[in-house]
Amino acid sequence: MFNYVKKLLILNVMCSSIVAASGGMVTLTPPDLSPENFIGYNIGHRPCRSKGLRLEHEWVRASNGKEKLLVHNYGHGGAGVSLSWGCADMVEHIIFDNVLSVPGLDTKSVAVVGAGVIGMTVAHILLERGYNVCVYAQATTPDTMSNVAVGVFSPDLGVSMDDAIMLESIKQFAKQAMGEIVNKHTFKGARLAPGYYFSDADIEAANPEDCKMVDFGFGVEPRLAAFRGVITVDIPFYLQDLYEKMLERGARVERCVFDNKEAIFDLPEDIIVNCSGMASKKLFHDDSLYAVRGEILYFKAQPGVDYRLHYAVPGSDVFTSLSTWDDRIIIGGSLERVVDHYEVDEDMCNGLYGNIQNLIKPGCAPDYLSTDQLVPADYCNVVLRDK
Ligand SMILES: Cc1cc2nc3c(=O)[nH]c(=O)nc-3n(C[C@H](O)[C@H](O)[C@H](O)COP(=O)(O)OP(=O)(O)OC[C@H]3O[C@@H](n4cnc5c(N)ncnc54)[C@H](O)[C@@H]3O)c2cc1C
Repeated sequence: MFNYVKKLLILNVMCSSIVAASGGMVTLTPPDLSPENFIGYNIGHRPCRSKGLRLEHEWVRASNGKEKLLVHNYGHGGAGVSLSWGCADMVEHIIFDNVLSVPGLDTKSVAVVGAGVIGMTVAHILLERGYNVCVYAQATTPDTMSNVAVGVFSPDLGVSMDDAIMLESIKQFAKQAMGEIVNKHTFKGARLAPGYYFSDADIEAANPEDCKMVDFGFGVEPRLAAFRGVITVDIPFYLQDLYEKMLERGARVERCVFDNKEAIFDLPEDIIVNCSGMASKKLFHDDSLYAVRGEILYFKAQPGVDYRLHYAVPGSDVFTSLSTWDDRIIIGGSLERVVDHYEVDEDMCNGLYGNIQNLIKPGCAPDYLSTDQLVPADYCNVVLRDK
């Protein structure tokens, strides 16, 4: 508790976004979200699963009759970046607990299918614990769905599990691992950012001393928010660093596309970890897996705008967030269930855009991005990538 309070105090002192703070009041440098600063939009699909996160093993047979251990690790919804280390740790426990039950199995080499955040963290944990790892993937960073993530530690978003105790221990491991990455800088791009939560639920749950009146300096009434440090990763740097360090530590990466699960069973390794994300729906005929689409808007980075805003739109279950990477501001928060296309939705984008403008400058007519202005971002954008 003492460390946490100390950390918050340090954040308050050090963070450049806090222009002036006195008592419960902070003045934040407002972002300039005029259309000239808009970089482009992006769209991603959160891999959600009605049966809950799939972290379990099964025994499968290759076409030559050889029995193999297959461990599934998919269905992380909007929490894949957050839970990745906890799930990777669990995968290694599952392997350890099962491999010795079948004689003649090569227990040292593991095939990891997928090189998104989930596949790469599994590879890291297995390498660290003495396994040889080969990663097989159609795409690697920056071309994976994981690159669309905002990168905020959000371990509860769109993920469930029947085994509540297991989920809790995954979250604990994940939180500790991410905390260590922030403190020890073991991977690039992770930091503790100041987060302001404009929602009744967050304000009610916070200690009164962690609630602040936030002023964006436009002469409008300051608004109450719950303040806390939030672990966040700068996705492009973080995933690139995960990738490079995975190779440095000895992983091999092979680019390939699997058309069906039998092709995966025929990989040379006897232990296989499936981290193929949304593709598990087709590869493993998992109809409980569905996409929850998210649209995000990128704006140019601005000095002093290095915080996170989370805004629960009053009277609805919609939230909109503003986060920051080194090179951009990101507005997101749309959650469209079972929408798995990549067509841009102008109204949805402008809904998010308008919500953040209303939070910062209530009462002013918000800017609007017309169809011509609403261009795809060139970073990891599936619309451009598939052309
Ligand atoms: C808009 C948005 C914002 C998000 N924000 C956050 C956030 O702030 N915090 C958070 O924790 N999470 C966030 N998420 C969720 C997170 O992005 C996902 O949970 C996570 O990326 C899932 O990772 P993955 O490795 O399973 O999938 P992917 O990144 O999709 O990786 C799948 C891998 O499998 C490979 N593959 C697939 N099919 C095949 C095949 N047939 N043959 C060979 N290889 C194949 C792919 O090439 C890829 O390498 C967000 C998601 C979205 C859409």
